[in-house]
Amino acid sequence: AEPAEELPEDHRAALRTITPKLLINGKFVDAAGGKTFETYDPRTGEVLMSVAEAQAEDVDKAVKAAREAFDKGPWPRMTGRQRGLIMQRMADIMQENLEELATLESLDNGKPYSIAKAADVPLSIEQLRYYAGWADKIYGQTIPTDGKLHVYTLKEPIGVVGQIIPWNFPLVMQAWKLGPALAGGNTIVMKVAEQTPLSALRVGEMALEAGIPPGVINIITGDGPVAGAALATHPGVDKVAFTGSTEVGKIIMAQAAQNLVPVTLELGGKSACIICADADVDEAVQIAHDALFFNHGQCCTAGSRTFVHESIYDEFVKKAVDAAKKRVVGDPFKSGTQQGPQVSQEQFDKIMFLINKGVEEGAKLEVGGKRYGEKGYFVQPTVFSNVTDDMTIARDEIFGPVQSILKWSSIDEVIARANDTSYGLAAGVVTKNLDTANTLSRALKAGTIWVNMWNGFDTGVPFGGYKMSGIGREKGEAALDHYTQTKAVHEPLKGPML
Ligand code: ADP
Repeated sequence: AEPAEELPEDHRAALRTITPKLLINGKFVDAAGGKTFETYDPRTGEVLMSVAEAQAEDVDKAVKAAREAFDKGPWPRMTGRQRGLIMQRMADIMQENLEELATLESLDNGKPYSIAKAADVPLSIEQLRYYAGWADKIYGQTIPTDGKLHVYTLKEPIGVVGQIIPWNFPLVMQAWKLGPALAGGNTIVMKVAEQTPLSALRVGEMALEAGIPPGVINIITGDGPVAGAALATHPGVDKVAFTGSTEVGKIIMAQAAQNLVPVTLELGGKSACIICADADVDEAVQIAHDALFFNHGQCCTAGSRTFVHESIYDEFVKKAVDAAKKRVVGDPFKSGTQQGPQVSQEQFDKIMFLINKGVEEGAKLEVGGKRYGEKGYFVQPTVFSNVTDDMTIARDEIFGPVQSILKWSSIDEVIARANDTSYGLAAGVVTKNLDTANTLSRALKAGTIWVNMWNGFDTGVPFGGYKMSGIGREKGEAALDHYTQTKAVHEPLKGPML
């Protein structure tokens, strides 16, 4: 179908590049029974495009294609250096089409085009280049043993990997998953989020253009409980990787357990951003603001519990409210927009429900709290003060532009309160005192600690959760461990040892 007429020509042109079908074995194909679902423009709630809705039998076809590509195809057999070159070519093609990818990302997800262009697409490209560099540097060890043996290890690919990703950073999540899997020589079936299927399909096409052989990257669009579940339970899948909610992470782990395959999970968070008494208040307000409001609060690492020392609490709240008021909400394609719509009606409703809970449970609504505008899924930048640890907004992941400010008085107390959560994805501290920074960096139970900053996501740095925020690490060298397995080879040394 032709994209809606009221869209500007460059948006229509970007949409026309999409073949909204399943990418299986190097070809775009319809779902079984010709089933489709709609992806929406979050600015208006209107349909952007109909996309193939994969059924279990489609997932089965994709897994078989990936198996064939793994067992017989060139990808795991070529040298790491050759794989790296092809991955670099894929990154080049993404780079050449940067604006088109940013347009698709913004249309489907609602994030500001300027940010998609400056951050999401470049970070995805960088991730592929980073792992392209690893592809010829994955190797084992020679191990001295207690005997006349030559023993060494090989790092072999795992096989067919099933990857399920969310909608908050569609391209970045895709690249985080593809990079280490490809570098390791695996083949992939990826189920992308039903809210944001578009950019991933385009990248799949670019991968083919770059020379990634058919069947190495298969992309499935469709529903979680149908297509996602079919993938996570498929006996032909050798490893499952998931990013999304903790609730679904538990389901995925149980699904993968049916076949006893390894699972990595990158899940939710309720990250504490701790502002100390010695902080420069203006700087601290900005860090805490960006920690929460970046990507409309739709970050698993969002600093959704802002702990502020009592001595600067009132001043901080006042300035945090000013910062929220200044935040520019609007059409993500308009220059200067900092916050577009939330991704979906469902997310919008969930955020509104939690805002109302905050009010009911006695937090002080300082600013925002309502829908922004008349249509689409926009939420006003919202700040609550007087938030206490037991309130729902201090415990549940909101995934929206809602800042909760809590008060603290002693370091021991704030450490205990920050750690009093089942999550452990990220945490941070704003202080000028090095000892305080070091103490907190070690005491906070989280996979990432930010000191006097937030939202650092360099591609070479491992990322993942403590506790119920996940299992395993993405990015960096650490992710490669999850996409290779170690084989130990033993050989007797029979000749004389000269
Ligand atoms: P979010 O809360 O960020 O939307 P979800 O955890 O609901 O994240 O979804 C993340 C991914 O998991 C999506 O691709 C979604 O389709 C998929 N998913 C959701 N439910 C299931 C399920 N029961 N089995 C497998 N995959 C699922």
